[in-house]
Amino acid sequence: LTETTAAANGPRPLAGKAALVTGGSRGIGRAIALRLAADGAAVALTFRSGQDQADQVVKEIERAGGHAWAVRADSADAEEIRASVAGAVDRFGRLDILVNNAGIGVLGPFEGISLDDVDRVLWTNVRAPFLTAQAAAAHLTEGGRIISIGSCMAERVAFPGGTLYATSKAALTGLTKTLAKELGPRGITANLVHPGPIDTDMNPADGESAAMQAGLTALGAYGRGSDVAATVAHLAGDGGRYITGASIAVDGGFAV
Ligand code: NAD
Repeated sequence: LTETTAAANGPRPLAGKAALVTGGSRGIGRAIALRLAADGAAVALTFRSGQDQADQVVKEIERAGGHAWAVRADSADAEEIRASVAGAVDRFGRLDILVNNAGIGVLGPFEGISLDDVDRVLWTNVRAPFLTAQAAAAHLTEGGRIISIGSCMAERVAFPGGTLYATSKAALTGLTKTLAKELGPRGITANLVHPGPIDTDMNPADGESAAMQAGLTALGAYGRGSDVAATVAHLAGDGGRYITGASIAVDGGFAV
């Protein structure tokens, strides 16, 4: 809230814009929702099960003088995805920025990964961002932004046990680069942000492999959701005008 309030008192580069952040109820998505709102955007955030947490984010944004709306949208449900995009447009009268953030990680030995795991991870990490971008693209106009949250495991580093997660996140590279070309003529950019180890429920800084992960960064430390949010805010604002088709690491120099 301190960061939100501080930014709210400063320049508001996204004033008049509307954003949709998937999985905005906690972790990196929550930090992105708060940051975009602090920069002046009206923010719709989706959640799957954390209605209370999503409501808290909305309240926090509203307390700081912003506009926000939370809507349930399970990544597995195409109708809920489309309804969340349509709802955001109804609510705010426009859509300028989509942040595909919701994602899950299933790690484990390659040969032990079940069909259920494959379906769950690919539907959440690939099918959902694809469908959300498709629904959003219909509403984006000149200056529109599609920003997806990948992972340094998509391109920069590989770990045993990461086949499914890395496969899913690498798919976002293809989606992003091609969207950049296809939507570029309409003045819409598409970019990918690859976080390294960020302290969230998915990857807590006091978790089992945390010391190893921190040790692999050049900075020797975990990052915060707000570190990722700062780059998303840059891409969403005027500073991102001429950046498209890019993959930007926010990873503390993970395995450089
Ligand atoms: P998190 O588990 O704290 O949050 C994940 C978010 O995704 C939640 O808001 C959750 O509600 C949402 N979500 C999950 N499954 C969903 C579904 N089926 N339908 C709708 N929403 C769903 O994780 P996080 O660390 O904040 O991760 C956010 C993104 O960043 C993910 O895409 C993740 O892969 C990526 N990432 C995280 C790290 C890290 O170290 N934390 C590193 C690289 C990439």
